[in-house]
Amino acid sequence: MYKWIIIGGGIHGCTIATFLLKSGKVKKDELLIIDPYPVPLYKWKTITSKIGMDYLRSPSVHHLDPAPFSLQKYARDNKVTAPFIGRFKRPSLSLFNAHCEALFAETDLYSCWFRAKVENLAPGKKKWMVHTTNGRLEAKRVVLAIGMNTQPSYPAWAEELAKSNPHRIHHIFDDDLQSIREMPPSFGIVGGGISSIHTAVHLCNVHNEKVKLIKRHPFRVHDFDSDPGWLGPKYLTSFRKENDLNIRRKMITQARHRGSMPRNLFMKAKRLYGRGQLEVITDEISGVRAAGSYIDIRLKENQSQKVSSVILTTGAASRHPIHDWLTHMPKCTSCGFPIINKNLEWENGLHVSGPLAELEIGPVSRNIAGARKTAEIITALAN
Ligand SMILES: Cc1cc2nc3c(=O)[nH]c(=O)nc-3n(C[C@H](O)[C@H](O)[C@H](O)COP(=O)(O)OP(=O)(O)OC[C@H]3O[C@@H](n4cnc5c(N)ncnc54)[C@H](O)[C@@H]3O)c2cc1C
Repeated sequence: MYKWIIIGGGIHGCTIATFLLKSGKVKKDELLIIDPYPVPLYKWKTITSKIGMDYLRSPSVHHLDPAPFSLQKYARDNKVTAPFIGRFKRPSLSLFNAHCEALFAETDLYSCWFRAKVENLAPGKKKWMVHTTNGRLEAKRVVLAIGMNTQPSYPAWAEELAKSNPHRIHHIFDDDLQSIREMPPSFGIVGGGISSIHTAVHLCNVHNEKVKLIKRHPFRVHDFDSDPGWLGPKYLTSFRKENDLNIRRKMITQARHRGSMPRNLFMKAKRLYGRGQLEVITDEISGVRAAGSYIDIRLKENQSQKVSSVILTTGAASRHPIHDWLTHMPKCTSCGFPIINKNLEWENGLHVSGPLAELEIGPVSRNIAGARKTAEIITALAN
């Protein structure tokens, strides 16, 4: 029986694993990370590489190592060129990923990797039974770190197109394409947040054709996806004092700058627009029709747009993140999220991370900062 099983080997699962291993409280043969992908951070790496993301949005102290300045030290020690940008020292994606790999090698995290999908979870006497596609495993404590990036949000019109013309539409969270360059130009990007601009910049760099970006709202410019006051007592004190979880949910919704981007990316989009490489349309899509080699995107206010491929940057489905195999678990709020205690425990010995932990961690819960907060809480419980 393992001491800890972490379900999900993305940013969250791997942050928790490195914190546990580096604390010395958990040995590598006492820990297992279960994930269907062949390597750690598979979803993170494929999505960010597909959209051509060059720098992270978060600052240099948000990474997977418990030591806050570890990423800056790694950049110095390895003489990395252009490691950070801006006053928040946002790290380059290549630096961030190389630092993760160095951490995984240092802790031998790879030896804790178990490739399988979890299909069920059942409580036993002071243990949990984890049923996977590759057999049954047992652990004293389990952490659910399954994220949202396996749940792409498809608008209704897109679902129909995906059925009739699957090669012409792609959500950046889908696994079917490693590179959007495999799709035929011209491109229509749907979505108005940070991923849509990364994708637009990437496509404008590799194709000569004009890229169209269709979004529902004006560009929203914010440094981060919530105010940094949510990282500490400024806002978290009153959040945690609030016992009504529905009010906490409202506080999270209000705090999030959904569909926003930092100024440097907004300026990039403006430059592409100025050079005539990017066409920006703010409107609602009312439907699509595949006509020969084109897709006709019908809009409510503007004339319809013809493109060859549609790329959705519409994020994760906003429905609650409880997968089918977890629906038998009790204690959920009306918004469908687990009711957890301060140790992020849903049931005795069953902990949660990411979206599942946001009623305790707050609006940053899904981010790297949230992964670090969760990892600190979980590591403090380990013995
Ligand atoms: C394009 C993009 C850029 C971002 N940039 C930043 C940034 O700069 N800074 C920041 O703080 N945040 C950023 N985020 C937000 C967040 O940090 C990432 O989404 C991050 O990948 C979330 O990590 P995760 O571990 O929760 O989810 P994931 O990376 O999706 O990992 C979840 C893992 O759980 C596994 N899993 C799911 N179900 C099961 C199951 N049944 N059995 C076993 N395994 C399962 C999946 O296979 C997956 O590997 C960004 C997000 C995106 C999409």
